[in-house]
Amino acid sequence: MPLHNGDAERPRDHRRHPVNPFYGEADPVAGMETSPPVHALPDGPISPHNAYQFVHDELMLDGNARLNLATFVTTWMEPQATVLMSECRDKNMIDKDEYPRTAELERRCVAMLANLWHAPDPSAIMGCSTTGSSEACMLAGMALKRRWARRNQDRYPGTARPNLVMGANVQVCWEKFCNFWEVEARQVPMEGDRFHLDADSAAALCDENTIGVVAVLGSTFDGSYEPVAEICGALDALQERTGLDVPVHVDGASGAMVAPFLDPELVWDFRLPRVASINTSGHKYGLVYPGVGWALWRNQEALPEELVFRVNYLGGDLPTFALNFSRPGAQVAAQYYTFLRLGRDGYRAVQQVTRDVARSMAERIGALGDFRLLTRGDQLPVFAFTTADDVTSFDVFDVSRRLKERGWLVPAYTFPPNRQDLSVLRVVCRNGFSLDLADTFLADLEELLPELRRQPAPLGRPENVATAFHH
Ligand SMILES: *Cc1c(COP(=O)(O)O)cnc(C)c1O
Repeated sequence: MPLHNGDAERPRDHRRHPVNPFYGEADPVAGMETSPPVHALPDGPISPHNAYQFVHDELMLDGNARLNLATFVTTWMEPQATVLMSECRDKNMIDKDEYPRTAELERRCVAMLANLWHAPDPSAIMGCSTTGSSEACMLAGMALKRRWARRNQDRYPGTARPNLVMGANVQVCWEKFCNFWEVEARQVPMEGDRFHLDADSAAALCDENTIGVVAVLGSTFDGSYEPVAEICGALDALQERTGLDVPVHVDGASGAMVAPFLDPELVWDFRLPRVASINTSGHKYGLVYPGVGWALWRNQEALPEELVFRVNYLGGDLPTFALNFSRPGAQVAAQYYTFLRLGRDGYRAVQQVTRDVARSMAERIGALGDFRLLTRGDQLPVFAFTTADDVTSFDVFDVSRRLKERGWLVPAYTFPPNRQDLSVLRVVCRNGFSLDLADTFLADLEELLPELRRQPAPLGRPENVATAFHH
């Protein structure tokens, strides 16, 4: 989100909301209500009907979520979930005493996730809801840092500078964490066809100041799963060699709600003793509208007690761990609803259809001949592709721009070090993106290609969007 400045002095900011004389309570012949300014707090009130219409009309110009192949975030829920959310929209998650049932639903969700992620001792698990994975990652990073600081009291604060090891493909929240909490971000660059963290490079970057290793399931850049078990194995070997005991946090923003259902054989979770904590976004493949994430720690040792604050709860104390204080409770109710509604089999069916659509789209795009697939949508239902080596008349930025003319949002961006030479398009399939829509997308792409092929050369990438895309 951009930081906004409050300067309303630019000429365009003196605009007023145009009042349509044939709107609602405005009398078309006499006494139309004054049109309020757009950028300054109006002097007086207007009717709720008109206020609604102004805001509604303005928001109509936002994109169509169904055609958005850029975002991981849920854009459709069942009507019952919507009703439930509006019933809960006045509930503040932090008021555990006033809303003990909401607190109870949160507790049950944590228990369900502990079970889903194979906690060896579910009663030891500590977990909470958050506003999303970003907050969950901040909390997990803080726990790692505090554990390391405790072990290194003789050197920190003082001479030692903590570091966190990760791939260059991490989501931007990890760069934020390192910046905000003054931790060195040790990033393993991409090399050749390796587009995410690998076990040996991760272990090689660890030293006595490493608070942890972040393994991503899966990468936002191309939808691939990082080899969590191999990373843990390399860190086991490191411990045997050097005595360094480096914990792993799994950023399962997307994959922690995909792999348990579609890849049950893949061992990436609390089955690996080195995995200290896991996060996921309830609002991605957890299938809930924006505003909910989850963080779970294996046990109390993984979440230092001094980070936990207590709030009043039915005359007692309830431990909480959060950056925010007040937060809506509706999303937690909606998460519980979705867990209850779908169950394991339901989630498996929903995610399977989504992944089938992704794989089918990837295959068909690959077959066009103009593109080279980097991933095939067979891990996260997400794939990345670039132009084929012999394509010289257009680039991925041209494709993204032309697709936008037809309403499709498909981001094009450049990979991080050391593959800044590689620019890709990425498609994220979500529940609700049907095979029908995929057919329409393919038809639109095929229709654009002859024109793109006729271009003398790529039209030039827009500098401001080329490298700054993060999701
Ligand atoms: C989306 C994402 C995040 C950030 O999650 P939000 O829920 O949007 O805050 C972090 N890590 C990964 C791997 C992601 O995909």
